Amino acid sequence: MTLRLDDPVTALPGVGAAMSGRLADGLDIHTVRDLLEHYPRKYHDAGDVLDLSEVREDEPATLIGEVLGWETRRLPPKGSRRRALDLTTGRARQASGAVFTVTFFNQRWRSSRLPPGTVAAFSGKVTRFKHELQLKSPDVQVLGRVASGLDTDAAADRLAHQRLLAVYPAVDGLPSFKLNELIETALEELPPFEEWLPDAVRAEHGLIELDPAVRGIHQPPDLETTRAARTRLVFDELFALQLGLQRRRARSETATVGLDNGPVDAARASTFVERLPFAPTGAQNRALAALGEDLGGPRPMHRLLQGDVGSGKTLVAVWAMLCAVDNGRQAALMVPTEVLAEQHHRTIAELLAPLGVNVLDGVRVELLTSSTATTQRRRILGELLTGEVDLIVGTHALLEEGVRFADLGVVVIDEQHRFGVSQRVRLTDKTAETGTARPAAPDVLVMTATPIPRSLALTLYGDLDVTVLDELPPGREPITTQLITPRQKERRERLYDFLREQARAGHRAYVVCPFVEPSDALAGTAAVAEHRRLSEEVFPDLDVELVHGRLTPVVKEAAMASFRTGDAQVLVSTTVIEVGVDVPEATVMVIEDAERFGISQLHQLRGRVGRGGGRSFCVLFAGWSSEITPEGLERLEAVAATTDGFELAEVDLAIRGEGQLFGRAQSGTADLKLAELRYDAEAIVLTRELARSLIRRDPELDEPGHAGLRAEVDRRYGDEEAFEALGTG
Ligand code: ADP
Ligand code: MG
Repeated sequence: MTLRLDDPVTALPGVGAAMSGRLADGLDIHTVRDLLEHYPRKYHDAGDVLDLSEVREDEPATLIGEVLGWETRRLPPKGSRRRALDLTTGRARQASGAVFTVTFFNQRWRSSRLPPGTVAAFSGKVTRFKHELQLKSPDVQVLGRVASGLDTDAAADRLAHQRLLAVYPAVDGLPSFKLNELIETALEELPPFEEWLPDAVRAEHGLIELDPAVRGIHQPPDLETTRAARTRLVFDELFALQLGLQRRRARSETATVGLDNGPVDAARASTFVERLPFAPTGAQNRALAALGEDLGGPRPMHRLLQGDVGSGKTLVAVWAMLCAVDNGRQAALMVPTEVLAEQHHRTIAELLAPLGVNVLDGVRVELLTSSTATTQRRRILGELLTGEVDLIVGTHALLEEGVRFADLGVVVIDEQHRFGVSQRVRLTDKTAETGTARPAAPDVLVMTATPIPRSLALTLYGDLDVTVLDELPPGREPITTQLITPRQKERRERLYDFLREQARAGHRAYVVCPFVEPSDALAGTAAVAEHRRLSEEVFPDLDVELVHGRLTPVVKEAAMASFRTGDAQVLVSTTVIEVGVDVPEATVMVIEDAERFGISQLHQLRGRVGRGGGRSFCVLFAGWSSEITPEGLERLEAVAATTDGFELAEVDLAIRGEGQLFGRAQSGTADLKLAELRYDAEAIVLTRELARSLIRRDPELDEPGHAGLRAEVDRRYGDEEAFEALGTG
């Protein structure tokens, strides 16, 4: 019987229960396919493998041998050498029987890492010591162990014919050489890999065939091959993902009826824009136009509105929600935190004041969070169901069982990346049963204030249309950012004097700390202690307020209110103020232990100032309670250097990679084994375009020439769970 990719690894000769258990536990490898999708992390270049008789003094060589034994001698100080030295010498036997030696200085551990019976390739320069040729401090690549039943000659052969040896991510009990062996066996036993890409696609994009690509990435004859193989396999991952996303979107559009929420002449939405105290920016107008088409179109809207902090997304969201109301429907805005929900609720009520809020003929707006009182909650739920409430702002509380709408027309989700996968879907499914065959799906607008690199947006939101608000409203104040380390101790004092001046001039300052309470495990400033210090010692003459997540909503709201009105001039907080909070008079953002925060978090925090109250400042205290790593410093310097959120997002991606950025599952890239957003941005754009035009033409991939595509997409993204796992709800 031939081996198949979907067979369990136990189908491989020599793999029993113990090995398959180790593969599953250690590397999450269950099938032969999983094994082959365990890609090398690098290649060991062994150079030419030589026999001892061929090597020349002072030239590099690779010798393969079975380790016979080790000996360590202590060399006392001598001549210019002040300290004693451990000289560890190993002897190894080549297949021919010839014995050579390798030496290491102060690396006693080599002897336990390479016990007798280990077969390894030693690469380095050949030297002569007394009459013996030896390799001094060579690179070592373990090929196997004689005791594990390894065929030494075969291992040596593998290297001899293949200068490049794949080095795999390994875990305890599964060293890289074992994976080499297993993968070699699999590749030998498997029939050729079936091509799934149409020839035309391959030809147009210069991609090699699948079979040589899979073999070439694991057993490359040269580096050129690894590159061509990687390009092909990355393309496969991304193309299949984009096809899956686009097909899913096409299906959801045919499975549901779109609602016509298009702008109505001379109704609330247009009145709202006319009565704004300012004119929308060009970018806002473009967004309204795009949304207007979506809202009135026959298919449900799926649009992502990306815009840096302060770019004015709220206006766009409110306009879209009013369109629903103008069409006799309701709208919901879901945000991730209570502070933000309250803030949005208030902002929206203010923005809608000219239209009348919660009055006869006005717009009914309500707030629903988990701290809404029970009686009030009951009333709101009842009025949502009868349709009396037009517009609701809330947190996750909106997703609860009891929340049902009479007729939900528009759903807006802010700060989408903070919500789990299925939540977006759950909120759109909340209109009470109507009994129609094809359910009507509300229009969905997803907003994110966290600028994300384009490559990530296109992967994470592959099934959304993207609109970017790439223009800030006029009147934004420039923000000067400074980094202060403990070496400049006196600058802290000067800063406090400066804050006092700012407060006297009617301005306000935030002081953000990483923790609420002191922690034993982590060094850092605690908000509670900092509040006490600032209010008692530093600013006894000012009012200093405190907000953090452990306070009750009432206390939190009181503190925020006093900062908003100017009763308090300094607000000490944790990152609860990170998103959305809008106090125009705030001109200084102080961040303690800034090295504890990520780029996007710092950027979000900084976005709380410069909102019209005058020239603004951001001060990053870093290194005061823990060391700054070089990477941390790079991050902080990037934040100090630019206020462009998109630029910072790219820097962040370049420094950390998407896995770190959002968590691989959350970033929507859990399924990408080889592709990396920071390197493969071009392929992402390309595959998305390809997938879009293909699915537009052939939504179910029914055309005969697309059978291969369909099979591959079905395999990878055949069921909804695949998307759940991806994080692209
Ligand atoms: P975002 O949610 O994108 O961070 P907001 O919607 O909170 O930004 O807007 C930030 C601030 O800019 C608010 O005070 C808002 O009233 C104001 N604003 C929005 N659009 C404009 C505009 N076109 N002109 C002037 N100010 C604007
Ligand atoms: Mg906002």
